[in-house]
Amino acid sequence: VLVELLSITPDAEELIEEIGRTAYLSWDKKSKGSTERFIRMLVKKGHTSVLEHAKATFRIRGGSRAFTHQLVRHRLCAFTQQSQRYVNESNFNYITPKSIENNEAANQIFKAFVHQCRHLYKTLQSLGIKNEDARFVLPNAIESVIVITTNFRQWRHIINLRGSKHAQWEIRNVTIAILQMLKSNAPTCFEDFIINEEEKVVRRIMK
Ligand SMILES: Cc1cc2nc3c(=O)[nH]c(=O)nc-3n(C[C@H](O)[C@H](O)[C@H](O)COP(=O)(O)OP(=O)(O)OC[C@H]3O[C@@H](n4cnc5c(N)ncnc54)[C@H](O)[C@@H]3O)c2cc1C
Repeated sequence: VLVELLSITPDAEELIEEIGRTAYLSWDKKSKGSTERFIRMLVKKGHTSVLEHAKATFRIRGGSRAFTHQLVRHRLCAFTQQSQRYVNESNFNYITPKSIENNEAANQIFKAFVHQCRHLYKTLQSLGIKNEDARFVLPNAIESVIVITTNFRQWRHIINLRGSKHAQWEIRNVTIAILQMLKSNAPTCFEDFIINEEEKVVRRIMK
């Protein structure tokens, strides 16, 4: 899966401090290190609505439609996804889960099924069926492209749910890639999320 950062609020942490201090009329308290202290205080108190003023947009290529369906359940985000009505899927790529790839018998069945889907899709097209109806024979494994935009508070929520060991491997891997980019742009806002590279999971450290 390829995850690209398309856009992020510039100087997001400074902006969060500037806006957050409106609540206390405490701009005079800005100093070296105050941004980090201020954001830590917001997160600790759960006053994370201030984090909604910063946002980030990512494009994710090469994920399955099964994964994108999990992602679009998050309602407080904006999404744009490759259309199966307008795009011809006759030569679609697909994702094979490792569990299937590593099992010879399962892999054979899976590949045969996906090839059959391709064949049926093309047959329906040749019978004059539009892409929007021919797509009913496409599998969950089909590759898709999706763009997601949301604010930092909602990114924290998604990371909490989708980086956890309870989430599926595909959305977890994407979440880890997103978290790495968020951490490098706004380290304090996401510092309580720790990535375990070996297990490919995210844990939240409560301070
Ligand atoms: C491990 C795991 C397993 C899952 N299994 C299933 C499953 O088997 N079947 C299934 O259908 N789904 C499943 N889901 C999806 C899950 O039920 C949620 O739809 C999805 O995670 C979106 O999360 P959310 O509703 O918290 O947050 P979002 O939609 O991201 O919203 C963020 C937050 O805003 C608030 N909010 C948003 N909308 C409303 C509202 N209308 N009313 C009140 N508050 C609101 C809530 O506080 C919410 O947590 C699973 C998710 C996970 C992480």
